[in-house]
Amino acid sequence: MIYVIGNGIAGLSAAVSLKKNGYDVIIITKKINGGSTYIAKGGIAAAISQEDSPEIHAKDTLIVGAGLSDERAVNYVTTEAPKAIRTMEDWGFEFADDLRLEGGHSKRRVLHKTDETGRDVYDFLMGKVKELNIPIIEDKLLSIIVKDNILKGFITKNRGNIDAEKLILATGGYAYLWKFTSNQSTNTGDGIAIAFRAGALLADMEFVQFHPTVTSLDGETFLLTETLRGEGAILLNDKGERFAFKYHEKGELAPRDILSRAIYSEYLAGRQVFMDLTKIQDFEEKFPVFNAYLKRHGKDKNFKVPVFPGAHFVDGGIRVNIRGETNIKGLYAIGEVSDTGLHGANRLASNSLAEGLVYGINMPMYIDKWEGLYVDDGDIINIKLHSGNSRKIEEIRNINWENVGIIRDKDKLSKALEIYSISDFISSNEESNAALVSYLTAYAALTRTESRGNHYRSYYPNRDDANWKKRIYFSLQK
Ligand SMILES: Cc1cc2nc3c(=O)[nH]c(=O)nc-3n(C[C@H](O)[C@H](O)[C@H](O)COP(=O)(O)OP(=O)(O)OC[C@H]3O[C@@H](n4cnc5c(N)ncnc54)[C@H](O)[C@@H]3O)c2cc1C
Repeated sequence: MIYVIGNGIAGLSAAVSLKKNGYDVIIITKKINGGSTYIAKGGIAAAISQEDSPEIHAKDTLIVGAGLSDERAVNYVTTEAPKAIRTMEDWGFEFADDLRLEGGHSKRRVLHKTDETGRDVYDFLMGKVKELNIPIIEDKLLSIIVKDNILKGFITKNRGNIDAEKLILATGGYAYLWKFTSNQSTNTGDGIAIAFRAGALLADMEFVQFHPTVTSLDGETFLLTETLRGEGAILLNDKGERFAFKYHEKGELAPRDILSRAIYSEYLAGRQVFMDLTKIQDFEEKFPVFNAYLKRHGKDKNFKVPVFPGAHFVDGGIRVNIRGETNIKGLYAIGEVSDTGLHGANRLASNSLAEGLVYGINMPMYIDKWEGLYVDDGDIINIKLHSGNSRKIEEIRNINWENVGIIRDKDKLSKALEIYSISDFISSNEESNAALVSYLTAYAALTRTESRGNHYRSYYPNRDDANWKKRIYFSLQK
């Protein structure tokens, strides 16, 4: 039996692909309709057009990754993504005919169905899970049992100990752990913390991507995609100023991290920021899902939507090779929980759904032939776990937003580290998981004194030091 933890794009596509290839699979998930896939918007990047190629897609990915992407992973995902798209079509999924262009991509290569493509893919794969009679259970993974570096089983909240030789972690990231976020509350870093306690190697934890435009009307969080700005939406502060050009020549179409810092800076100066949709032609037709959201809250396109940048995606996580294998025999990690090296220091838009799909669909190719992770780059920092004060998730979200946020400095990062240094890392609960991954994020961010990709240090912006193109790994000190 192969156990898959998590039912986002990575877990679902792995389970469907394995089942279709004759394997017995069970999916266990903390919450049906939880995770990021369920709310993902834009689409999936794959070089499928005549004018495009995996090589060009790889080049774009490497540029955005700012010197820290792993070329093996980049070449693998960009080559395999078109095949994964074809597999989805063979399974019966219908993409829209047009390919979209997104920031950082030099070609039109973003496949979509509606303006809520993550949800479309989720619904489709959940339908396949049902059709194939794959059991899907709502339960929470608490810990993993490992002996002599070999997986022996795992423990869930409701079922206790389960023996297992193969476990696929697909539990997503932890961007919910910032006060302002685009993520659902399921994404608290459980899989990363649990795997680390069991001895898995982590990497790239300092790199957290913030999306510039998130809103929350009556507490319902909604991500306002880049396409809105591409179609004419503008940003205004509460003085009515179109401020984005002060920060970048492309104004509202500046790269994600620059626009996030611009909006954040307006807030720091005491000004609120709004998105004005009135210049978008055929808004209702082009953005039906966002229009429905506005309607649900009694608004329409004339409403000035308050926006703020929110933590969106974590580049780092459980280090794996291109087969999804960790350094613990029998333990796999795929999707946002993993660190394949594809994203490096920053993620190219629409590459994460592609990554989850490629690693999920290709699982049957590797599941019976273990090779294991081999690491040949970077610096490894050993970490000792300790018990300590329990911290509420809300408290952690405030600490991270204030101290490990969009613009980072030594004092704030040290403060976060100090707080987490006396926090509980060893209990099998979300609070402890959240404290542990936040500690490692602050630790890596403090260690990386330069600005690179989506990690921005206020005192050392864009220092170009070749020696610094090193990956930071964390391993468990036993
Ligand atoms: C609003 C939004 C829009 C996005 N738009 C795009 C886009 O257009 N294109 C793109 O490429 N990327 C996009 N992203 C990023 C992308 O959606 C995610 O990186 C991707 O969906 C992650 O998929 P996943 O399968 O790894 O994890 P998720 O989809 O996050 O699923 C994680 C699963 O793990 C389960 N889980 C968590 N902890 C436990 C536990 N302890 N025990 C059991 N189960 C657990 C959860 O219930 C959930 O089912 C977007 C993200 C957000 C938030």
